[in-house]
Amino acid sequence: MPATPSTMLVYLNGHFLPKDQATLSVEDRGTLFGDGVYEVLEYYDGRPFAMQGHLDRLRQSLAGIRLPAPAAVDRLPEISDELLRRNHLTHARLYWQVTRGPAPRNHLPPDEPTPTVLAIPTPIAPLNVRAPVQCWKAITHDDLRWARCCYKTLMLLPNTLAKDEARRAGCQEAILHRNGTVTEGSATNVLAVCDGALWTHPADASILHGITRAIAIDLARALGLALHETALTVEQLRAAEEVMVTGTTARVTAITHVDGHPIGAGEAGPVTTRLHETFLKQLSQQCQPAGCT
Ligand code: PMP
Repeated sequence: MPATPSTMLVYLNGHFLPKDQATLSVEDRGTLFGDGVYEVLEYYDGRPFAMQGHLDRLRQSLAGIRLPAPAAVDRLPEISDELLRRNHLTHARLYWQVTRGPAPRNHLPPDEPTPTVLAIPTPIAPLNVRAPVQCWKAITHDDLRWARCCYKTLMLLPNTLAKDEARRAGCQEAILHRNGTVTEGSATNVLAVCDGALWTHPADASILHGITRAIAIDLARALGLALHETALTVEQLRAAEEVMVTGTTARVTAITHVDGHPIGAGEAGPVTTRLHETFLKQLSQQCQPAGCT
C-alpha cells in the first residue's frame, strides 16, 4: 500500500525516515539564507524522466553557489529508486534539496560545511499519453530576481510572490520581464510562435536552463520549425500567434491569454498542441518502453 502523507518516507542525510520525523537544524543555512539548491523530477512506472539532465543541473547549481557536491549527490539515482521502493510508489514527483547545512548564523559561509541532502517524494497520477494540452492564462510581472537565475537556488520569494499575483488575477502563471524583455515564467520557461517560428529567451544567466525547454527545442527542430533563441518584448509576446510555457510539472502548457488579451484565437494553437503531443510521446517512450498506458 502506498504511504499516507505523514507515513511517507523521505531521505535525509543517509536515513529513510517518516516525513513527520525528519527534522532539520533551525540553523540550517537553507532556512536562514536560502543557501541551497534543488531539483524536481518525475518518475512513471518506476522510471525517472530526464534523470541525467536533472543531475547535471544540480551539479551546475552547486558549483554556482560554490558548494562542493556531497558524496550523496552521486548516489541520488539509487537513493531515489530506494525511496520509491520503500514507499511502494511507481508514479512520483521527487524533490531533491542540497543546502550548505547547519552553522551558527553568519553571513560568511562556513569553510567546511556539512551539507544537508534531502529527498521528498510525492505520489502523482499515472501518465496519460492522450491527455489534452493544458491551457493557462498569464499575467506579466517584473522579474525581481537576482542576476544568476540559471542556478536553481532556494531563493524563490520573487517567484512565489509573482505566482500569487497571477492567482489574484485569476491566472495560473506570471510571465516575468526585465524592463519589458520577457525572461521566463515564475516556475516555467516561455516560448512563443511569431511569424511561424519559435522564439525563446537564450539560455544565459537570466533564466533557468529548463530541461523541458531543451527537450521542446529539440522536438521543435525535429518538426522542422525555425528556432530563435532571442528574447521577446512583452509587446511582441502579446502579439504572438502562440505562447506556451514548459516545465517538469507544467510539461508543455498553452498560454491562451496574457494580461487579459487573447493570444491568437485565445486557445491552444497548433504548434503548442503538436509539441505537447510529441513531448508526451517522448516521456512515455523513456518511462514506459513497453508502451503500456
Ligand atoms: N524556470 C523556472 C524559474 C522554474 O522554476 C522551472 C521549474 N522548476 C523552469 C523554468 C522549468 O524547468 P524544468 O523544465 O527543468 O522543470
